[in-house]
Amino acid sequence: MKSLYKRIQVTVLATLALLLVVGGSVAYAAPGGYRLPFSGYAEISAGPRCNQHYGQDQEAIDFVMQPGRQILASKSGVAYFYPNTWPGGNMVKIYHSDGLHSTYAHLSSFEATKYWYYTHYYTNGLWVNQGEVIGYAGSTGNSTGTHLHFSVNRSNNSAVVIYDLPGIRWWISNVANRWSCTIDGRNEGSGSG
Ligand SMILES: [Zn+2]
Repeated sequence: MKSLYKRIQVTVLATLALLLVVGGSVAYAAPGGYRLPFSGYAEISAGPRCNQHYGQDQEAIDFVMQPGRQILASKSGVAYFYPNTWPGGNMVKIYHSDGLHSTYAHLSSFEATKYWYYTHYYTNGLWVNQGEVIGYAGSTGNSTGTHLHFSVNRSNNSAVVIYDLPGIRWWISNVANRWSCTIDGRNEGSGSG
C-alpha cells in the first residue's frame, strides 16, 4: 500500500517536471537580469527568426524608435563603442558577468561623456550600470529607418532567446507567426521598458 502511494507520488512529480519543460519555462526563456534597452513604449518591427535577422543574429529584435531616443544598458557590464560599422552602424556592445554580451546597433550617436571616457581612458572597456544612457537611436549602417537592433549573444556570437524579456508583448498569439517578419504591414508586438 505504502509503496504504491510512493510510486504515484513519483509519477505525479515526473509529470509536473515534464509539463514545465514542455511548456518552455525551463527549456526556453530569456536570460535573467536583462531589461528592455529603453524606457517607455516601443513597437517591434522585426522579431526573432525574421529573415531580416539571419544566421547568428536570428534572435535579435528591432524596435521602432524616434530619432534621438535614449538607448539604455540592458544590464550592467563593460561597454565597447564601435563607430561606423557595417551592418551595425554606430554600435555598442556590453559584456556581462554571465558570459553573455548585449548589442545595440544603428545608433545616431553615442552618449558623449561615456564615449569620451571610453576613447581617452578606458580602452579595455567602460563600466556602465543597468539603465544608464549609452547612446541615441538612429538609422546608421544597414538600416532603412530609425530603429534599435537589440540582441544578447554568447561569446561565439550566437544569439540567445530574448522574445520573452519582461515588458515584451506579442500581438500574434501563434508562436510560429510571431517569429516571422512584419505581417500584413503590421508590427508584430511591442515592448515597455
Ligand atoms: Zn535588426
